[in-house]
Amino acid sequence: MASPLFPVFADLRDREVLVVGGGTVALRKTIALREAGAAVRVGAPVLNAELSAMASRGEIHHLPGHFAPHWLDGAWFVVAATDDDAVNRAVADEGQARRIWVNVVDDARASSVQIPARVDRGPLQVAISSGGAAPMLARHVREMLETALDASLGQLAELLGRERGRIRARFPQLGARRKFFERLLRGPVPALLCRRQHLAAEREFIAQLHAETSAPHGSVALVGAGPGDPGLLTLRALRVLNEADVILHDRLVSDEVLQLVRRDAQRIEVGKQAGNHHATQAQIHALMLEHARAGKRVVRLKGGDPFVFGRGGEELEVLRAAGIDFEVVPGITAALACAAYAGVPLTHRDHAQSVRFVTAHHKEPHDGGDAGEPDWRALALERQTLAVYMGVAGLERFSTRLIEHGRAASTPFAIVENGSRANQRVIVGALSELAQRAREHDVQSPALLIVGEVASLAGSLHWYGAPPLRDASAVAEAA
Ligand code: SAH
Repeated sequence: MASPLFPVFADLRDREVLVVGGGTVALRKTIALREAGAAVRVGAPVLNAELSAMASRGEIHHLPGHFAPHWLDGAWFVVAATDDDAVNRAVADEGQARRIWVNVVDDARASSVQIPARVDRGPLQVAISSGGAAPMLARHVREMLETALDASLGQLAELLGRERGRIRARFPQLGARRKFFERLLRGPVPALLCRRQHLAAEREFIAQLHAETSAPHGSVALVGAGPGDPGLLTLRALRVLNEADVILHDRLVSDEVLQLVRRDAQRIEVGKQAGNHHATQAQIHALMLEHARAGKRVVRLKGGDPFVFGRGGEELEVLRAAGIDFEVVPGITAALACAAYAGVPLTHRDHAQSVRFVTAHHKEPHDGGDAGEPDWRALALERQTLAVYMGVAGLERFSTRLIEHGRAASTPFAIVENGSRANQRVIVGALSELAQRAREHDVQSPALLIVGEVASLAGSLHWYGAPPLRDASAVAEAA
């Protein structure tokens, strides 16, 4: 077993660094070295266009001609980036003889220093190395960290760097300082930076710095979990799920998504049973308030997108009224996901210029609204697509009304049941036979109905799961 490498972060500001080579690899290394503030000289018979431009702007110094040992005079560090092994080795040998650290690009054995894969968040740098054993693995880990670390960490590191003196003055003892950092990192400052509210973040930082003891600060993130396939979560949703203390989730949220939640977070299912919506919604509000007030980071996790038939607006109003911090993370709504996973483009130059998201359920009078009829004439207009949520119950009535108000009985539909999930089914047919087809195939919730000419494209554009189901006689005809 070779010994592992010893990681260091080098301060190259205004230090002489030699890059040997004039091509794209040399350019890449030169740019990175200059970002670190190094004084770079580039040795090569010819420089490529970008390097030449840098040289003529005085950003680098060009050493023309073939490699000569005196190029290393005064250098702290050397990068050999030519495509000629013999030259690279000569550079490495010369560096070795002079005890100057050398990196030979893509040649760990010839190098005395390796340049790690890194995740760059301003002053915060994460470097990853496999010591040359498995560069692909290092790259893979880098990608994982890129996903996990929010861009705003750079701003947080900058803020803490600027305020270092004040923090030390306020908390001279290491123990107290550590406690302060723990509170700060769990508190609203990082969240405010994520939300690009820099001034508010600075103000909050100062408030926390001077607070005697700060009470734990709760918040609620209203997060869209998408339709089921965890691959359709946003990166932001994943990060928020990783930091949650309490998750209040709907029944619609898939198990695969729930498996990504921080292990020791408390999970509470607040699935609504048909019939007692009203009571349950009030209970959800109460649960959100209770946990946020106890200082918890609460995630209110909803299927699809929280603002599409999700009552997300009402929940935010409650939080706003209670003065609780919140953020909203959008999700992929069922209409977009089901259409994509069924091969149904919601708009199409030849068939549909607009799409409507509608729900087959309407606010009941006891919900405080009127159960008024939808505008059937508008819904029945041609050359548009309807994406109908919560459509399993009233399908008969829905198709009859649309046809009565002028939509052709032959208009294609597609029902997508369990869209994007392993058990997805797609049922297609003509509008006049909608309810019958749904009954034949025993369609269950959750299912989304798509009505419009585009639905017929599912037959040729399907790519996920089983091909669309038709009625038994059409299957016989096709055979
Ligand atoms: N906020 C959610 C919608 C909530 S209403 C969103 O943006 O998707 C619930 C309805 O959404 C269901 O009755 C069904 O019509 C639809 N739906 C949600 N997930 C679905 C899925 N995976 N497949 C099919 N339909 C789904």
